[in-house]
Amino acid sequence: MQRIAARSRLRRNISATGRDAEERVFQAVLDAILDHRLAPGTKLVERELSELLGASRGAVRAALARLGHGLLVELRPNRGAVIANPSVSETRDLFEARRVVEAGIVRSVASRMTPAIRRRLRAFVAEEAGAYEKGDAKTGQRLSIQFHKLLSELAGNTVLDRFMEHLICRTPLLALAHTGHSLSYCGAGEHRAIVEAMLHRDAEAAVAAMNDHLAHLESQLRLDDSVRPVRLAEALGIAGPETRRDVKPAASAGRRRKRKPA
Ligand SMILES: [Zn+2]
Repeated sequence: MQRIAARSRLRRNISATGRDAEERVFQAVLDAILDHRLAPGTKLVERELSELLGASRGAVRAALARLGHGLLVELRPNRGAVIANPSVSETRDLFEARRVVEAGIVRSVASRMTPAIRRRLRAFVAEEAGAYEKGDAKTGQRLSIQFHKLLSELAGNTVLDRFMEHLICRTPLLALAHTGHSLSYCGAGEHRAIVEAMLHRDAEAAVAAMNDHLAHLESQLRLDDSVRPVRLAEALGIAGPETRRDVKPAASAGRRRKRKPA
């Protein structure tokens, strides 16, 4: 329903050019990445995005440039844009960076604990546990990301917060690049352990719980390159006139990828 509503909004009165149109394209692609709907290697065809999202080609180009700046999209001269496909070493680097940054974040939240922060953390943990109890995987997945964003916001350092946003946005791509599917979600249990330590103002226990959590996420990655590109319209939640599914990928045995010119 939401999608239909969004689509009819698109048809009605929104501008195809300027900052709003650029933001619309940027958010649509970013949301699809965060929801694990756009796999690494998926081509982002300017014309197609422009038609699907009712934005001018200029607005699409500007949005793609921003996504490229955040390393979410690779812009290849004369060959267009594709969703970035992080390598094994980039993946390890990203988790290493998350460990460093998020250790600083939980330490900071634990040390500046206030009743207001306490309430927000408790409410979050309850909401997340509730989603899993109801079997609402979609909400669980969104909350998985939001938890880490919430902590970086509560740490009260705007530079760290922006840095974290950059790291978090790239994580779903690593999952898809290196498992071929979404990571199983963070789960409420590990988040609760981190929160409990922070509520007790025990910075070292919070850091240890966060490290365990990130190590657990990283351990789920299979460091091979299977990717599963999907139709752009489908990934953006806009069913095009032809909704044919892509042909299933061939069995991976013996399949060659990324052949480089000799
Ligand atoms: Zn998590």
